[in-house]
Amino acid sequence: MRAITVRALPALDDNYIYLLRGPNEEECALVDPSQAAPILEELRRHPGRLVAIYLTHHHHDHLGGLKELLERLGPVPVHGSRVDQARIPEISVPLEDGDRISFAGEEGQAWLVPGHTRGHLAYHFPRSGHLFSGDTLFGAGCGRLFEGSAEQMHRSLQRLAGLPDETRIWCGHEYTRANLRFARTVDPDNAELAEREKRWAPPTVPLEMGLEKRTNPFLRCAEPALQRATGKCAPVEVFAELRQRKDRFS
Ligand code: ZN
Ligand code: FE
Repeated sequence: MRAITVRALPALDDNYIYLLRGPNEEECALVDPSQAAPILEELRRHPGRLVAIYLTHHHHDHLGGLKELLERLGPVPVHGSRVDQARIPEISVPLEDGDRISFAGEEGQAWLVPGHTRGHLAYHFPRSGHLFSGDTLFGAGCGRLFEGSAEQMHRSLQRLAGLPDETRIWCGHEYTRANLRFARTVDPDNAELAEREKRWAPPTVPLEMGLEKRTNPFLRCAEPALQRATGKCAPVEVFAELRQRKDRFS
């Protein structure tokens, strides 16, 4: 049973804000409040008591609505990476890798997954099977390397891929279509990937971990097909090459 339910609120061009509700629907929480308006509108239609805000990283498209929300709704614990505390002064609950969090009676965990940024966090609620991956893992893709190395990002992604196949992934952006187009160029013989591109329809969240493991090239760096496509052997080198090609792909 999934005790926590999640609603994806589209924001800005292609961001997702996530509104979590507990089993009694009264308590709610937010992941990455890009904008205040869609959240206030959702809470007006389906009232709830906001008890926590979780931030994945410091980029403005993930926390642009934070100040206004805190002004309008009053103080709410703001969870974020201890690494980012200096650049996100609103963080009141600084988290380190492995720190426990709790929402609506359910335990979760924050994971430090650097690569896109130094302080990037993912949030995992194992009982409900939800993973909030921010700009680390996308549908058929991954985030750009702004502050981290290929090694770091590869390790972060491998760690997320260790979660059960039925894990539901709620990522920071709806980039799946463009990512599938790129994925097909480097993994052309993957029938499930071809099928996935054909069936594509928005919204693609929640993503399913099992499908990502089988079709996301950035999680398949040890597969012969991806080694062949990149001309590299070591998985981390395959990853680095894929990431560079994706940066140039349009
Ligand atoms: Zn970002
Ligand atoms: Fe982003």
